[in-house]
Amino acid sequence: MTEVPLNIQAPDEQGLRLLNLLVSMLPKIRPNDPRTFISYKQVHDVLGLSQHGTTFGRSLLLQGLDSLAHWTAKSGKPGITGLIIDKDKMLPGEGYFTLFNREPEDYNWWFAEVQKSKNFNWAPYLSNKSEDLCIAGDDWTGDELRASVVAYLEMQRLDRAGIPFKKSEFYDALVGSFSRTSSAFEHRMHHISYVLALMGRDWLTGLKPATNVSVSVAEQIEKLIAEVEKRPFAAVAAFEIAVREGIQKEELLPPEGRQIPRYNVSSVTQFQRDASVKAWVLKVAKGVCECCEQPAPFETVDGLPFLEVHHVRKLAENGADTISNAVATCPNCHRALHYGAHAKDLIEHLYLRVARLKRE
Ligand SMILES: [Zn+2]
Ligand SMILES: [Zn+2]
Repeated sequence: MTEVPLNIQAPDEQGLRLLNLLVSMLPKIRPNDPRTFISYKQVHDVLGLSQHGTTFGRSLLLQGLDSLAHWTAKSGKPGITGLIIDKDKMLPGEGYFTLFNREPEDYNWWFAEVQKSKNFNWAPYLSNKSEDLCIAGDDWTGDELRASVVAYLEMQRLDRAGIPFKKSEFYDALVGSFSRTSSAFEHRMHHISYVLALMGRDWLTGLKPATNVSVSVAEQIEKLIAEVEKRPFAAVAAFEIAVREGIQKEELLPPEGRQIPRYNVSSVTQFQRDASVKAWVLKVAKGVCECCEQPAPFETVDGLPFLEVHHVRKLAENGADTISNAVATCPNCHRALHYGAHAKDLIEHLYLRVARLKRE
């Protein structure tokens, strides 16, 4: 059994995080309709909690629910923890009712507490770090992250090789090794997609990049990718996320920057490319981008139309350096092929438009 926290001043830190989550849900809650409530398991997923104990209900009690529920009961606040239910029974745990001295399944009282929660002003009790809610899983261990990255890259390998696989089986295998839910791992996969996208790499179809990754987690993921692929690490994704966080700041003062930029001495993976492939592709393009069909935007010092050669399956994704995998593009299209939201559509466009290309 859990100890009852005697602190009536405020819920503990985990209780406060839980309160933030529940309050953020209130606008969408219909008090008489538990289908709009949240399950014990979903709370774990959203907050990135591991399952401690045999059920998600017991697990959540240990991770903030007990603290928050007692605080509401002792300080006369509405019973907002009634928003958390067992989705099979469509009911909160029995403890919810007994804590407030109610008969189990006293629906009228329960729904009234939810209505009161909606009307109540919770603002003075919320932590102002509500953005923490979105930055899931800074508490993940290196082993959990590594296993996620390994699984992701393996799924990507199978996908490229055209070997059928089920993502859910990969998640289940991870669940078997660590005490996290399958959807916690799935969320992680979307983060890995985002890191890859920021690196200008391909991400696995069906795992749309999710942007709520912290700089530190992104850096760890990127390091792990480099490690697994045995390539040198460059903190590209972490840098880009830091840039995006800066852009989002309400007030961003002109930074000092560095008069003498720092540098790392590191080796970067350089693919030794075949000059004749590049030459052939450029020659065939005749100064016109094979993606947007616009003429090259400028000429080089030696009078050549400036186009770049892009590998449709990137060399970093084990693409071949051959004319059936290379196109001449203008710099805009080239960047869009690496970093654009519609990169996958552009790739399809190229496969349809350029007859010599072969899908790898
Ligand atoms: Zn173009
Ligand atoms: Zn490229």
